[in-house]
Amino acid sequence: MQLLDGKFVSEKLKEEITAEAAGVLAILGRKPHLVAILVGHDGGSETYVASKMRNCEKVGFKSSLYRYDTSVSESELLAKIKEINRDQEVDGLIVQLPLPKHIDPEKVTEAIDFRKDVDGFHPVNLGRMMRDLPCFVPATPYGILMMLEEYKIETSGKHCVVVGRSNIVGSPISILMARNDYPGNCTVTLTHSRTKDLKDVVRSADIIIAAIGKKNFITEDMVKPGAVVIDVGINTEVSTTTKSGFKLYGDVDFVNVAPKTSWISPVPGGVGLMTIVGLLKNTLASAKKEIYP
Ligand code: NDP
Repeated sequence: MQLLDGKFVSEKLKEEITAEAAGVLAILGRKPHLVAILVGHDGGSETYVASKMRNCEKVGFKSSLYRYDTSVSESELLAKIKEINRDQEVDGLIVQLPLPKHIDPEKVTEAIDFRKDVDGFHPVNLGRMMRDLPCFVPATPYGILMMLEEYKIETSGKHCVVVGRSNIVGSPISILMARNDYPGNCTVTLTHSRTKDLKDVVRSADIIIAAIGKKNFITEDMVKPGAVVIDVGINTEVSTTTKSGFKLYGDVDFVNVAPKTSWISPVPGGVGLMTIVGLLKNTLASAKKEIYP
């Protein structure tokens, strides 16, 4: 078993991003700029946004955070998005999900200018990804691709089973793993809660991508010897043994699954760190007008 080490890869890529950000500053006279909008006080969202902002500063980007109380109206939020869309000095705009029930996430996603949609959730970017055109690829799938690339994981002709069909992870990564490119050229099976005989399907995989949101869901008996396992899950439990007071678990029973695999990504220290890199790369590409000149 070898580790798909998100910490190592993300640090390496962030060094490259730092150098490129300095280049942007020299040419444009300003840093690449990411704006995040956070509504409410969800603990997970607070942590994710803080980490995104911290990483921006680390690689020499500017980051701005607009916070709103849960009571903010949909129209107020949409007006702010439109204002940020118009700001020439903003390269990327993300709205942290989930949003309160009275705000339609689809409206919010579509309100973001697709040229600043560095999360890659806008239908224009998803459509362009589908057509293999230049676009902002959603950050987590992008991070997974970079990780596979870094470790030169063979993907062509492999059977990739994706567990979970969300718009932000499962569905886009299934499209990317099937495209005619590297990493890709897999035969992909996209599974979900209605999939019959899920264990058998997963057991037939050369590459497993688990994005379910259930601790230790992928067990040893579901993994073919030598499989590559990518664990996207981030499941939090209260803990008395950690300084933070909580502990993170993936969707994969790492301790028992790892010995059977050829490669496996840990949680923490895996895909989560690569997701940040995906976001930074998209923001940099936006500042450099690489996707939409
Ligand atoms: P969603 O909650 O949106 O979707 C979960 C998916 O898992 C659904 O498609 C659901 O199926 C499927 N599922 C649930 N239960 C089962 C089951 N028993 N058998 C088969 N499939 C099942 O998930 P996300 O993609 O948003 O997130 C998944 C996990 O990844 C979470 O832990 C999340 O925190 C984490 N995550 C991590 C990121 C990172 O950077 N590492 C980024 C984003 C998410 P159905 O559609 O039928 O309901």
